[in-house]
Amino acid sequence: MIVFHKAAAINPFLQQQKALNKRIGFVPTMGALHDGHLSLIEQCRQNCDIVVSSIFVNPTQFNDPSDLEKYPRTTEADIQKLYEAGCDVVFLPAVAEIYPPSYKPPHYPLGEIETLLEGAYRPGHFQGVCQVLDRLFEIVNPQEVFFGQKDYQQCMVVKKLLTLVPAHQSIHMHICPIVREADGLAMSSRNRRLSETERQKAVTIYQTMQQIKKDIRPGETAPLVQKATDNLVQAGFKPDYVSIAQASDLHALSSWDGHTALVVLIAAYLGDVRLIDNELLPDSLTGS
Ligand code: AMP
Repeated sequence: MIVFHKAAAINPFLQQQKALNKRIGFVPTMGALHDGHLSLIEQCRQNCDIVVSSIFVNPTQFNDPSDLEKYPRTTEADIQKLYEAGCDVVFLPAVAEIYPPSYKPPHYPLGEIETLLEGAYRPGHFQGVCQVLDRLFEIVNPQEVFFGQKDYQQCMVVKKLLTLVPAHQSIHMHICPIVREADGLAMSSRNRRLSETERQKAVTIYQTMQQIKKDIRPGETAPLVQKATDNLVQAGFKPDYVSIAQASDLHALSSWDGHTALVVLIAAYLGDVRLIDNELLPDSLTGS
């Protein structure tokens, strides 16, 4: 496994590999790696010749400075995990490598998607996500990229980014399933910041989604959203949102016709740790 710190070094190396007809796959991360990240590495390994991953805690996507400051950083352990998972190339850039003094942040016309849910609660977040990915894609120049459904709305934003930037239009995007702990909690780097008691409570998010999945029938969704919100509050969460939305565009669905594909999305604070999760309702296609 080769570790690069400089764009000027990794870029020509990967160009050379491409010239040798190697298919370059890329898994961008912010580190503090867990089995969710490693599942993306595995998918990448199965689909590509060269597995590239990056670890970069991107300052421009944090709207809350204390969240950025407290974001877990475990680089040495991450490198070891990537090596064991069969990663070929790691990119560990400094901030100035991604955003040199000459860098002028473009505005990405993402449209409605950045005004909803995460976009509404984390102003500027998705512009920051696009800034870092645009730069990383430019530097790594991958043919395939791998993202987790854990960040459902981010996946929609990345899809849009790939259409907006001509240089990235040929990149093929894979969306990989959410990897969960044994009790159902979605794996997340932020889980490390939970106390033991909070960790035990955190599974309530998953259980709440399961309850919605069980209770949902054609008709009004508001009572389910209310019940879910109450449930989270009772367990000690401060929910930002509980949304039952159309899977295609994240529009909240006030009434369900029994057929439209749905996604349930939850964002909630436990102490000062903000957790997100989501679940598609494939059963909704049959209405059962
Ligand atoms: P992050 O390091 O949080 O920016 O995540 C890097 C990538 O890993 C993103 O594409 C995430 O969606 C994905 N990811 C994070 N957690 C999980 C998980 N539990 N299961 C699958 N993918 C995940």
